[in-house]
Amino acid sequence: MDADLVIVGSGFFGLTVAERVARELDRKVVVIDRRDHIGGNAYSEDDPETGIEVHRYGAHLFHTSNETVWEYVNRFTTFTGYQHRVYTHHKGVVYPLPINLGTINQFFGAAYSPDEARALIASQAEEFDTATAANLEEKAISLIGRPLYEAFIRDYTAKQWQTDPTELPAEVIARLPVRYTYDNRYFNDTHEGLPTKGYTHWLENMADHPNIEVRLGVDFFDESQPLSKASTVGQVPVVYTGAVDRYFDYAEGELSWRTLDFEREVLPTGDFQGTSVMNYPDAQFDYTRIHEFRHFHPERTEYPDDKTVIMREFSRFAERTDEPYYPVNTDADRERLQAYRGLTAGEKDVFFGGRLGTYKYLDMHMAIGSALTMYRNEVSPLLGG
Ligand code: FAD
Ligand code: UDP
Repeated sequence: MDADLVIVGSGFFGLTVAERVARELDRKVVVIDRRDHIGGNAYSEDDPETGIEVHRYGAHLFHTSNETVWEYVNRFTTFTGYQHRVYTHHKGVVYPLPINLGTINQFFGAAYSPDEARALIASQAEEFDTATAANLEEKAISLIGRPLYEAFIRDYTAKQWQTDPTELPAEVIARLPVRYTYDNRYFNDTHEGLPTKGYTHWLENMADHPNIEVRLGVDFFDESQPLSKASTVGQVPVVYTGAVDRYFDYAEGELSWRTLDFEREVLPTGDFQGTSVMNYPDAQFDYTRIHEFRHFHPERTEYPDDKTVIMREFSRFAERTDEPYYPVNTDADRERLQAYRGLTAGEKDVFFGGRLGTYKYLDMHMAIGSALTMYRNEVSPLLGG
């Protein structure tokens, strides 16, 4: 084998380590991926009928406050000035998200000042204390009170997770800010935008180095191919970004994941919903949200004005053959994860990273940031950097 490192998975984690090893250490890397394209879940493609860029595995919005990551990603792409805003469709009325003064005033048919709204929500939230809230339901009610929770969160969360909100970790909801201003930007980060020429262009730029070879359609667990687990581990250092339970053949049991089904449709209108993401929190709709991809790139004048492409998103438990998207992270999962962490510690020169390898819901900037850290602290020293 003439590679100095084998990387399993060409998502942002794998490509970041590959790029660093190839460019900074001038060592040879082979990246394998079982899919027929690079980029993992951030992959995007032009819809054949409309030419509109579609994120095949669900809408991806880049945002970060990490200056190291921001400097790094700007080596491979420029970013548009896109700012994400989400709206939600409840009982036939559309409200702004995340919950802000606009949502509160519209919901209660009022004109509360920030102080008045704070006082109202505090009175509706008193059954739980944010600091000690033990699960998603308690945390959400402590932040926004029961009426807003029941309108916008409870049934959406039921569709998204099919798990009792009292069994879900509080962190899931802590991702959504609550604001007592009319600011309805979805993210609080310093930097935000979409890659000007699309995600795949960005991902291809990362992989574009003579020391990097990418082999697609190759499964690490397929022993008939030369870069399988059996023929690489112990022979060459491996960075593994596939599912950690699969690596150990589920020896400690299966970690639970949610997967998504996407229903794509081209419609004969230039604008279906007037915005990129509309959430559907009510139980009567089976889907959780609808994406309309043209709105991610309002600057692209070449998009047709008589057609649009939308994607409805449905959530369900993942079977072994499904794409795992969201770690469910129940108490039982956390126990199993601990057991797997014990096993990973015993795998010499195999580095487990990324969303699947660590069983963590990592945003893109987190996957890239943790890959840079792993490169610096573990991979580079091993390869003599
Ligand atoms: P992945 O992108 O999952 O890449 C892992 C790769 O490993 C895959 O290509 C897979 O095919 C390959 N692989 C797995 N097993 C094997 C095997 N046995 N053999 C060979 N190859 C294998 N982040 C944001 O910052 N903003 C967002 O808006 C956002 N939205 C998201 C929406 C959805 C629906 C999902 C699922 C994720 C979203 N993310 C978002 C997270 C983002 O996708 C991840 O941060 C990023 O993809 C993580 O990269 P990764 O390399 O860890 O994993
Ligand atoms: N959520 C909700 N209603 C919404 C949006 C989000 O109840 O309209 C909850 C839901 O439990 C979800 C979590 O907040 O899983 C995080 O939402 P986010 O939009 O960050 O989810 P993602 O984009 O990662 O699916």
